[in-house]
Amino acid sequence: MNKCDRNVWLQGGNSVCCREDKPLPRPYRIVLLGAPGVGKGTQAEMLSERLQACQLSTGDIFRAAKAADPATLTPAMRDALGYMQRGELVPDDTVIALVKERMTCLQCPYGFLLDGFPRTVHQAEALDEMLQQVNLRLDCVLNYELPLDEVVTRLSGRRTCRECKTTYHVMTKPPRKANMCDKCGGELYQREDDRPESIRVRLQAYEQSTAPLVEYYSKHGLLRSISAAGTPLEVFERTMVVLNERRI
Ligand code: AMP
Repeated sequence: MNKCDRNVWLQGGNSVCCREDKPLPRPYRIVLLGAPGVGKGTQAEMLSERLQACQLSTGDIFRAAKAADPATLTPAMRDALGYMQRGELVPDDTVIALVKERMTCLQCPYGFLLDGFPRTVHQAEALDEMLQQVNLRLDCVLNYELPLDEVVTRLSGRRTCRECKTTYHVMTKPPRKANMCDKCGGELYQREDDRPESIRVRLQAYEQSTAPLVEYYSKHGLLRSISAAGTPLEVFERTMVVLNERRI
């Protein structure tokens, strides 16, 4: 399969994505919710392979910007990276502007899996407006649930590939060779915001800002809650059952 390269999402501007596979007649348009560490990113990668839809992670945009030449960053982006480093949420206006600049990704014929956006009710309302403007609707919002102590264990063991951003876990999803990505051979590292001092702040931000989204999407009849306990494959299979019910 010609996997989505996410150039437009990660770089914005005049970038182009190259893929040649045929889109599904009815693409999936999904929001993924869940506290940091529940395995949302791993599910997004697996779902992206199965459903063709690109994983649109706002966190990945910030990490791509961080790796870029600082002289090329806008002041808003420089500020945003400061928030990210501390584990705090980036202000709504900055994030919403970034997503608006990437409207083509929301209209992509392959659909999308939004991962990490929206993260506040204000962002969810902005997303509703953006989709309405182009006559599109979300299929559903998948809400991954996991007890807090397990969330902390998962986050502190997570490692990410510097090159292709694939995620691993030192205990539950180790790479074949230590510190090396199975897919591209890139170096694995621990994200700054996966360190214990940032983890606490991120979980607080989730409770305060993102948890209310569960109620928001539940009211809109879009919420599907899924237990994130067990192996990535078990969670993926549960997710596919939910998605197949939704499509009938
Ligand atoms: P993630 O990879 O989704 O955990 O995002 C990493 C960090 O990027 C978060 O801790 C925030 O600082 C920032 N971030 C990503 N997405 C958003 C968003 N939708 N709203 C505010 N901040 C965000």
